[in-house]
Amino acid sequence: MTVPCAVNGAKGRKFLHLGRIRSDTILLVDVDGRIPNVALMKLSGFYRREGYRTKLVRGDRWDVDSAEQVYASCVFNCALSLRRVRKLRERFGDVLKIGGSGLDLKLRLPTEIEEFPADFSLYSEMGDRAIGFLTRGCPFKCPFCVVPQKEGIPRQVSGLDELLQNRTKVVLLDDNILAHPQADDLLSEMAERKLEVNFNQTLDLRLVNRKRAGLLRRINCRNKKKLLPPIKNGPM
Ligand code: SF4
Repeated sequence: MTVPCAVNGAKGRKFLHLGRIRSDTILLVDVDGRIPNVALMKLSGFYRREGYRTKLVRGDRWDVDSAEQVYASCVFNCALSLRRVRKLRERFGDVLKIGGSGLDLKLRLPTEIEEFPADFSLYSEMGDRAIGFLTRGCPFKCPFCVVPQKEGIPRQVSGLDELLQNRTKVVLLDDNILAHPQADDLLSEMAERKLEVNFNQTLDLRLVNRKRAGLLRRINCRNKKKLLPPIKNGPM
């Protein structure tokens, strides 16, 4: 199963030269994401707690003289993303640790990092919004979708307090939140807390009934088309 490539790009822009990355700094590479990468934010939060600094770069319009620890995430399985991955592997060799849906649907962060709060400051574009998952998974099996294979049936992975980190605006990335058995409770809590919610992966209309429609109307839904500027292509 492959994930369609959805990366925009333009040629002719300058490279960002980062020089030598300090030994106390971990380089985080968002290979092709169109929305902030939760795995990289969790890595950033975890390692900052350990005393490291983190540096985020996107796409491949950058270069470094040296780096001692590099983590990368590749979301899409397409020629452009895989070319960027190949360049990363050639550049960093064993120093590079890479994962993501574009490469391996089963590879997971270590539990202690997966459960660590995301560092929202990694993407300044997020402003005062939180971003992440309350639930993962979906009971359906659309043939074009990686979620059934990657996540399986719906399960809750976070509570609102853990996800929000005291914020009141949130971008939800849940695959199909309405398919979770506790969906109504989660929607009620969002409404009662007067959260501003972006259901970024949309809502499954098949699972909206009269009660849920009423709950959804009580939620301050604020969708935003683009959370990040598109990644520009590097040289072929
Ligand atoms: S309903 Fe959505 S999340 Fe579920 S399998 Fe279909 S496309 Fe994927």
